[in-house]
Amino acid sequence: MEHLVEHMRAARHSAHEPRCDICHKHCRSFEALRDHLGVGGSTLPKAAGCANAFAARGCTICLSVLRTAAERPRHLASCKLDRIRTPPGPPISRMAGMSLNHQPQAQGGGRALALGCKMVGAGSDGSLDVVARVCVVDEQENVLLNIYVKPLMPVTHYRYETTGIRPEHLRDGAMGLMTVKNAQQRVQELLLCGEQPWKVRTSRARARLLVGHGLDHDLKALGMDYPDYLKRDTATYPPLMKTSKLSNSLRFLTHTYLGYDIQTGHQDPFEDCVASMRLYRRMKKQEHHPNGGDADEPAASAEQAFPAWRQRELERMTPEELLRLSTPDYRCWCLDD
Ligand SMILES: [Zn+2]
Ligand SMILES: [Zn+2]
Ligand SMILES: [Zn+2]
Repeated sequence: MEHLVEHMRAARHSAHEPRCDICHKHCRSFEALRDHLGVGGSTLPKAAGCANAFAARGCTICLSVLRTAAERPRHLASCKLDRIRTPPGPPISRMAGMSLNHQPQAQGGGRALALGCKMVGAGSDGSLDVVARVCVVDEQENVLLNIYVKPLMPVTHYRYETTGIRPEHLRDGAMGLMTVKNAQQRVQELLLCGEQPWKVRTSRARARLLVGHGLDHDLKALGMDYPDYLKRDTATYPPLMKTSKLSNSLRFLTHTYLGYDIQTGHQDPFEDCVASMRLYRRMKKQEHHPNGGDADEPAASAEQAFPAWRQRELERMTPEELLRLSTPDYRCWCLDD
């Protein structure tokens, strides 16, 4: 029992962890759950009983186990998404707070925006990342901003094979070209939605949640910041990370959890935005019922849930009772409104 209490302290189990539909085991990440079900890439031992049931009637994308194998094709048709191509047309820069039909965006478009950037290389060996394309989409995958950015430094490597960017795209007078400063302002306007930056530090009000993959890198390239509590980063969201706690690539996440391929050939920031937004929405849509207690919001430390002075009492509890006390160590996206 002493060891079990110690494990519960360290594990931070909660209703918000991915769980096996068969045995209800808690997993730290979807990757761990995939290994458990025998569909992961690792050679870790799977749980034979769960893996057999999963092979017969499981969905390899959302990892749920359906009641019958006959339900699987219909379920897969809605679970597996199709690749989306950039909408044709000129580069776009929409006014903040305006939807496509120029109505104020109260509800339409959702409360989150996804940001994606593409970098070209600067410096003597071209290894320095400089932002050259910026895209922002809303929850309905409408493009609010899709522009080229004039690099602040001389470009030494256009990385054409992956970016598709040529010198003429970034030359003065090119269509849809903006300065980094203007691009930063546009992104900021879209995110703040009329709120004051100082206010958003502590209270969200109308400001948007910012979705993306590796957001800090993109924000740094744009020379801006945004409060952490409003960021939803698919690279650092614990359930989407590797068991080793390293980030997965957006390409891997999209292939594995949305069921289609991106970043083949020239990479499009629009496609990245849509992929991270879809991952966000899928994570947000998950139904997690709290354990029973108020184990919903993350606690600062496990010590709050399992204080040392209660050790004796804790050791007399059942595993289920301990589970009810346990709080997650991350804020689950299913709690977003
Ligand atoms: Zn949750
Ligand atoms: Zn299981
Ligand atoms: Zn599914």
